[in-house]
Formats: sequence, structure tokens, C-alpha cells
Amino acid sequence: MVKNDINLDFSKSVGDPFVEIGRLGLIEFCQKEQFESFEELNKNIEKLFNIYVFHTSGRIGQIFSSNSKFTHNSTGKDLNKRYTQAIEYYESLINDSFDGYCITCGKKDNLCNVSKTIFPLTSGNSNVNFTSHFSNRLLMCKECMTSLFFTPTNMQKSAGKMAFLISNNTEINKFWSEENLEIFQENIVKQVDALVDSKINIFENFIYNILEELQEEELFGDITFYLVSNVDKDTEITLTHIYEKQIKFIHQVAPKFFKNELPTKQKDEWNYLIFKYSSKDSSGKFRTRKETINGKSKTIKFKDEVIEGKDYKAMIKYYNPLINSFIQNKSLLPYFRVNRCSWTLTKIYLKEIKQMREERLNTIKKVADNLMLLNQQDDKEFIRKVVFPLERTKSGSELRTKLREFMRKLLAMPEKPMLFTADEMVFQILPSGESWQETKDILLIALYEKLSFDEEIEKEIEIITQGVDNE
Ligand SMILES: [Zn+2]
Repeated sequence: MVKNDINLDFSKSVGDPFVEIGRLGLIEFCQKEQFESFEELNKNIEKLFNIYVFHTSGRIGQIFSSNSKFTHNSTGKDLNKRYTQAIEYYESLINDSFDGYCITCGKKDNLCNVSKTIFPLTSGNSNVNFTSHFSNRLLMCKECMTSLFFTPTNMQKSAGKMAFLISNNTEINKFWSEENLEIFQENIVKQVDALVDSKINIFENFIYNILEELQEEELFGDITFYLVSNVDKDTEITLTHIYEKQIKFIHQVAPKFFKNELPTKQKDEWNYLIFKYSSKDSSGKFRTRKETINGKSKTIKFKDEVIEGKDYKAMIKYYNPLINSFIQNKSLLPYFRVNRCSWTLTKIYLKEIKQMREERLNTIKKVADNLMLLNQQDDKEFIRKVVFPLERTKSGSELRTKLREFMRKLLAMPEKPMLFTADEMVFQILPSGESWQETKDILLIALYEKLSFDEEIEKEIEIITQGVDNE
């Protein structure tokens, strides 16, 4: 007998990310936030448990512990029994009525007493903020308990683990759960494992791919991405925080592309860089892939795969140091410098991501423009005498010394131009506490943009900047 006078309300956010992602998955799955009777909710539970028992493969075992009702050995040969037992167990939890406070949302009384092994991804102990840390027996309200059963519907497989996101923008959360449910249902129709597989095995690429989708939808916000390892081992949780400004940056520099042509450095600088760093392996060789078509072995070049095959997604199969640095919020300036990117791209990056003061940005640019006065219409000589010495500096004080040397040279010229004022050096160029490398990178990017290169000087630059972007 199941109580009928139950009011189940899933409309409120919960602090525990697992419960929260399950709650959002439940709302999407049921297309409803509030239930006035248990029967109403139970129809959805039956549908869900049916999918877990009959429409998932071995991957359900990566999500539910081997002690769960969906995976336990004792019902491995009789799936109907497995299904019935799962439903009966759920109903018994709904009928529980313990006093106390819900362990995840703090709601009072009418709680159920659950074993954590019944829930997805909960057997490890590595992070105190998650249900996975809790002791084996725990009291939980009916909403939180029910939500947890829905978490697998709102996650995607990535890097052999399960990934999900939670944003401060509810529209982003909605976008995520809608996308997941759509694929989840398609999988059932296609009679493949219902659980969503991103097929992206590098977590940073997985995140980048989603950020691209979001910016296309003009959805912006802070997002935390979670990557949770399988159950029945030590559960590990990797958290990656993405700032709204990172999505806004992609929005400015990377409109959709690739579909018909190779991005070019002039037209589509950022995407060109992403392409460039996907196309080579760690030893610097262009990627190729062997495939057997009609019994014949064929070598597929990276470019052909992406551009001619119109398979942009092929790019995200490969480790990409630029994407990695972007997602990890490390400086991209070394990449811009080595690839001699434009001032336009650099400026967008410095303003959007680094949030550099306009005044500082302009002063450093002015120093670069002033240094150009030392160029006697001979780019090659200028590069050797001014650019390379700057490239070779290894500390803030070395950089400062070099700049002062160039200042003296400028003052020796008939018009006596000032490279910078003392104030500018102290407050804008190399302010204490700010990264000197950043200043160096920005200066060099601004200089390179104004110079032309022949083969000979290209080679010299290559030697000097070796390894900068492969760190
Ligand atoms: Zn609760």
C-alpha cells in the first residue's frame, strides 16, 4: 500500500550537485515540477526503472554500484524480477516516515532511511561535499531520494567517466537537461544504450564543445563541470570552473566555421589556431589515421577528415594544448606570441579574459609603437637587434633593463622620443605584483604584427621561441 496523500515538490534548488542534477533531470523527464499524488510520479518512476533494467548495457554498472537494485547479481538472469524488486524497493522508501532532517536539503520529517549504495555514483569517499562521502545509512526526504535516481539521465559519458554541469544561469541548466533527454530518448528508439555518451574522451575538449554550443545559443553564465569516476572504485570528482567571460570570449572570436573550408589565419584567427593545434601530435607531426574501407587500408589525413569530411567533431578527438590551456584558464599569450597573432585577437583576449585595464593595455601598445622608431626600414635587422633581445629575457628585471637600454638609444635620436615615462614603467608596464611575462608577450605580439619575415628570419624565430607553446 502506498500513501496517496503525498505532495512532492521538485521546484526548489538543492545544494548537493548530485541531487540537483537529478532534480533537473527529473523535471525534464516528467515535464513537471510538482506531483499531487504518488501515482502520478510513480508512472514516471516505472518508465525510468524500465529503461534502467531493459535499455541500458554494461554502462549502467559504471553508474550504479553492484549492490544497487539495477545491477545486483542475484537478478542478472531474471530482468523482470530485477524490475519488480526495484519498484518495490522504491515504494518502500516512499512509505518510510522517519523523523529528523534530510541530509542534503535539510527538510524536516517524513524521511526515508536509505543505503547510499542504491544511488548512482556514491560508493567512494573522496569529497566531503557530495553524497558519496556520507555514511552508509542516511535519512533523506522523498524529493532528494527520488531526484538521485534521475541523475544518470542528466549526465554524459566523457573520458571513461560521467560528466555533468551546473550553472548559475538556469537557462544553461535547462539547455543541458533538454539536450540530454533528447539523446536519451533517441538512444531508446535506436535500441542502443540509453545513457548518453558524448564520445569525447578528453574532458577539456568535452567542455570546449559545450561552450561552443552555448555561445551559439547566446547562453552565458558561470558553470562548474563535474567529472565523476565509476562506482565500486575510489570515487574521484574532478571540478572545472568556467567563467562567463570565457564563453563571451568564444562568442566574440569563434563563430561557427569549418563547415565548408579550412579557417584561415586572416579570416578566422582563433579557429585557425584551434585547428592548427589539433592537427599535429605531440611530436609536431601532422596527424593521420588508418582506416579500412572495403577491405582496403587507407590513410586519412587530419585536414581531409575535418575539412573534406565536414567532420568538425573529429577535431575534438585529439588532445589540443590550446583548448587545454583555455579551459584551465592558463595564459594564452604565449600561443598568440609564437603564432604571431593579431593585435585585435590579443586585445579581445586581454579585455575579456584577463580583464586588463585599458590604460595598461594602451601603454604597452604605445611602448611597442615607440620601439618601432628604432627600425631603420630594415625589419630583419630590427628583429635581430630589438625583438630577439626581448625574446631572450628571462625575468622581470632583465626585461626592465632591456627596455631602459632601448630608451637610451631612442633618446640619442635627433627627435629624442621617450619610450615611456617613469610613471608608466611603475604603474602600467611592469607594475609590482603583475606578471612580467604577460608584459613581454604583449609587447612582442604588438611588435611582430608590424614586421615582415623572410624564410631566414622565420627559422631564427623558430629556434628562439622553441617549446614556448608546448609547455
Ligand atoms: Zn531533501
